[in-house]
Amino acid sequence: AGETFGIVGESGCGKTTLGRLLVGLEQPTSGSVVFDGRALGAQRGAEFRRRRRDLQMMFQDSAAALDPRMPVSALVAEPLAAQRIGTGRERQAMVAELLDAVGLPRAAARRYPHEFSGGQRQRIAMARALALKPKVIVADEPVSALDVSVQAQILNLLQDLRRELNLTFVIVSHNLAVVEHMADRVAVMYLGRVIEAGPAEQIFGRPRHPYTKTLLDSVLTPETGRGLPEFALGPGFPNPLEPPSGCSFHPRCPKVMPECAAARPAALHDGEAMVECHLYSGAPETVS
Ligand code: SF4
Repeated sequence: AGETFGIVGESGCGKTTLGRLLVGLEQPTSGSVVFDGRALGAQRGAEFRRRRRDLQMMFQDSAAALDPRMPVSALVAEPLAAQRIGTGRERQAMVAELLDAVGLPRAAARRYPHEFSGGQRQRIAMARALALKPKVIVADEPVSALDVSVQAQILNLLQDLRRELNLTFVIVSHNLAVVEHMADRVAVMYLGRVIEAGPAEQIFGRPRHPYTKTLLDSVLTPETGRGLPEFALGPGFPNPLEPPSGCSFHPRCPKVMPECAAARPAALHDGEAMVECHLYSGAPETVS
């Protein structure tokens, strides 16, 4: 609670799906999401609806996430109405306070999403996510659609709100700089699995998994052998529906060993850190 947890990986690794699972927008085909000691899927009806107040989401594309036909007052009040909180007048008072909290003028309530810049729309999305006083906010690529000049403003706003409201954030991003700036702990995903996780300073300062190391080297540069993972590792992902055998990273791994194709590495837990790689796990565990 009160931390920012970062989930990073290439496009298509499953990080957005994981974020949607956390807030109940997708149902897991296996496993469960446990929040405050209770599995989310086990709740029904009114209890499920009340539980959903605790878990809110900010989407990547605020232009698509905000209904263009609704004024800001209705957009921000909509979660309150859906949860039957307050009268119409009380909801409008809450909208005014939420606009204050995200740094928008109260007059913004009468305007429509297309009248705002991308950064302002992300503030509206934040006000909407905050309306139900959630405990956790999952922010999926919260600044990737914004100009670089306003990215820092939105990230600083998220940090300030997290501290003031003791929120827990889950930041989903392919942008390592964003995650390094925001996160206390980080999980690195590849083909639907978390392959390394730990405190942010360890993941960014002393990465162990070969994929994490390649990802951290993935800066746009004209130097041969560097660049985005697609260039550094060869073309794109394998098909996630038919993942490679053993360690699913083995066709692209610069450290591949004979056992890597035969067996998935067991997770090595080391304090708060975890890594899944035969370089660290000792005897490989054969999986079907
Ligand atoms: Fe590379 Fe093998 Fe480690 Fe997978 S298990 S990351 S293929 S060294």
